[in-house]
Amino acid sequence: MLRIGCHLSSSKGYLAMGKEAVKIKANTFQFFTRNPRGGSAKPLNVADMEAYTAFAREQGIAHILAHAPYTLNACAKDEGLRTFAKNTMADDLYRLSYLPESMYNFHPGSHVKQGPDAGIDYIAEMLNELLKPEQKTVVLLETMSGKGSEVGRTFEELRSILDKVELKDKMGVCLDTCHVYDGGYDIVDHLEEVLKEFDAVIGLDRLKAIHLNDSKNPFSSHKDRHEKIGEGSIGLPAMVRIINHPSLRELPFFLETPNELLGYAAEIALLKEHYKEV
Ligand code: FE
Ligand code: FE
Ligand code: ZN
Repeated sequence: MLRIGCHLSSSKGYLAMGKEAVKIKANTFQFFTRNPRGGSAKPLNVADMEAYTAFAREQGIAHILAHAPYTLNACAKDEGLRTFAKNTMADDLYRLSYLPESMYNFHPGSHVKQGPDAGIDYIAEMLNELLKPEQKTVVLLETMSGKGSEVGRTFEELRSILDKVELKDKMGVCLDTCHVYDGGYDIVDHLEEVLKEFDAVIGLDRLKAIHLNDSKNPFSSHKDRHEKIGEGSIGLPAMVRIINHPSLRELPFFLETPNELLGYAAEIALLKEHYKEV
């Protein structure tokens, strides 16, 4: 069974997202934990989280993915921004402790002239302060396209962060198809080689989720602009190979394409149609 969903607005709460997912025939979804461009979060609503959890169990929704705000930069030069990143992630992880089976995805950050090595050290330092042996939420580093001074364009940079984190079983990677393609990994013509490289550098056992996006820009453009499935430079045949690949087909797929709900429902139906049950 294809595990697929899309990014949903969290403004009406968890139960509302669960119902929306069912409406568009998704069996998972992604959401922002808080205002993605600010950082403010709504008060914790445990009753809503519990109602959602019961509903999700009933409907077979699982492996949902929380996305950290874009303003969270664990490797900012400014100490105040790093403290904001740490406090935000700590609060997000606390909230997610109410949602069994959730994962948490974040952008490693932008090192802004400090160099990737300094950035990697800051990111690992924050994770080592925050991760707890008893936590159930797995934290995912997202693969980035490499615009500006983003850390995480190469598999090697992600590996360096993972190497420095003590509680390794709390960590994983989320591969964004638009980001890696824009970042210079040719998943259209050389998917097999890219996955071999991922396995050699990071290990495919660390790959926990896929952001399934087409790209508005050509290969290796370092741009990061998502396109609807089949309408960009990646194209539908490559998407179909990705969702059916033996190393990927069991993972949850999350659409972050420029769509309203109806558009998402159509993409979910399209991808389900092209998924080969084995
Ligand atoms: Fe992201
Ligand atoms: Fe993404
Ligand atoms: Zn993106």
